[in-house]
Amino acid sequence: MSRRGKVHLVGAGPGDPSLVTLAALRAIRRADVVVYDHLVERSLLEYARPGAELVFVGKHAAGPAGRGAGVLPQDEINAVLCEKALEGRRVVRLKGGDPFVFGRGGEEAEFLRGRGVAVEVIPGITSGHAVPAYAGIPVTHRDLASQVTFVTGHDRDTEGGVPVDWEALAGAPGTLVVLMGVRQLRRNCEKLIAGGKPEKTPAALVERGALPEQRTAVATLGTIAEESGRAGIRPPAVLVIGDVVRLRKILAWYEKKPLFGKTVVVTRHEGGAPSLARRLWALGARPIPHPTILVRPLAESAALDAAAARLGGLDWLILTSANGVRFLFERMEALGLDARALGGAKIAAIGEKTALALKKRGFLPDLVPDTYTAEGLIDAFRREGSVKGKKILLARAKKAREVLPEELKKMGADVEVLPVYETVPAPPPEAGVPWERVDAIAFTSSSTVTHLLAAYKDAPPWPREVLAACIGPVTAETASGHFKNILSAPVHTVPGLVRALAEHFKK
Ligand code: SAH
Repeated sequence: MSRRGKVHLVGAGPGDPSLVTLAALRAIRRADVVVYDHLVERSLLEYARPGAELVFVGKHAAGPAGRGAGVLPQDEINAVLCEKALEGRRVVRLKGGDPFVFGRGGEEAEFLRGRGVAVEVIPGITSGHAVPAYAGIPVTHRDLASQVTFVTGHDRDTEGGVPVDWEALAGAPGTLVVLMGVRQLRRNCEKLIAGGKPEKTPAALVERGALPEQRTAVATLGTIAEESGRAGIRPPAVLVIGDVVRLRKILAWYEKKPLFGKTVVVTRHEGGAPSLARRLWALGARPIPHPTILVRPLAESAALDAAAARLGGLDWLILTSANGVRFLFERMEALGLDARALGGAKIAAIGEKTALALKKRGFLPDLVPDTYTAEGLIDAFRREGSVKGKKILLARAKKAREVLPEELKKMGADVEVLPVYETVPAPPPEAGVPWERVDAIAFTSSSTVTHLLAAYKDAPPWPREVLAACIGPVTAETASGHFKNILSAPVHTVPGLVRALAEHFKK
């Protein structure tokens, strides 16, 4: 192997997965190996390409040696990075916040350079200022703080670490931000007070900042240790000391988001659009991906192949999903057929996503109903004029509702139903789901409901009160009887579903 690998030391940002840089995203996408620790928000790993090796080397400030269960000591992390890089692989070392801010990124880089491994750094947004920002605390302010100091609260525990000069810090004006400051909170505050920092100085401790689980304790330098004990604040947390803390009262914003703190299970197809999760994050919710369905090409494609050869003689081709578009055209390509095989057939599409998938392949659908259901399409056909005697091919999943073909037949059409893909139930996610915390389960189709129910059979693990948030009436109908609380989105799109959720929880 001639190529020597490279390690990118990449900052993952403070929590919210949208707080990574473009450079970080590109590096994650291209990586052969991603080595990450426990501060890294897991959803970022979904950007890694399928087949990339994901290595967890989580670090905890737990246990007397600063190590928790399943944690690799630093020299072993270094060895892993070095070994993977020397195999010639593209390694991303993904670290919470910024890799060079209290992340031991400097030590990892030194180790690698010492062994001839190339290292590049992609800085990240550090929790040091971003976590206070998510709590509504600007670390500087013209009237309140013209300097800010970032320190570790762990100085005594880090073997061979340089001690923090708490007495000097006590005299320094401006804002003091302490990372890793929970375990030694009382000791550090006492040192600052002993050094002359006024006990009344405002202080805030922000746990799991920039995440839907964010919690903030506000007190003073003299009382924050007690207050945080009472609130049960646990690491990771950022301590902010200084007058800027007062601004939280007016500037707090993240906790005000409509879905802040809500946990929403997102049932979806494997590889399905992550746009629902993204929108939930943007409104302050914690989406938990839960694949319910794996979408597969048909095991047996003879009927599909035969139909593909006859596409030219059709009056209408109906597509009901983006998957239908994908699998039909992929099969056609495999058979050496392109757009011309469709001849003059008109195309009808149910749903925006389906229409978009068609556009991407160069087709402008002739008919897209306003209501994205089979019934909506039937109505649209009624308005379109007679379908009597028309040859219609309906390309769809192997298992689907029969309303559409039945109604079209009643209207006198010559309908052929062509399965182009099939769905099989997916196993529950490996990482597990914290069901006891789940507020809602979002369903984007009837089949996500039936598959989720099937996955857990007689023992649904979700709380009885959980909200079944359904994209439309058909999905809601499927959910009825299985869920006590059901929400049916008035607008049957992913944004419509998220809006309905936000409305629901506003109450
Ligand atoms: N390199 C990281 C810091 C690593 S040290 C950065 O730049 O942010 C770990 C400490 O970071 C934690 O003990 C905590 O003080 C802080 N931290 C990181 N992410 C945090 C989060 N989401 N909320 C609160 N504190 C966080």
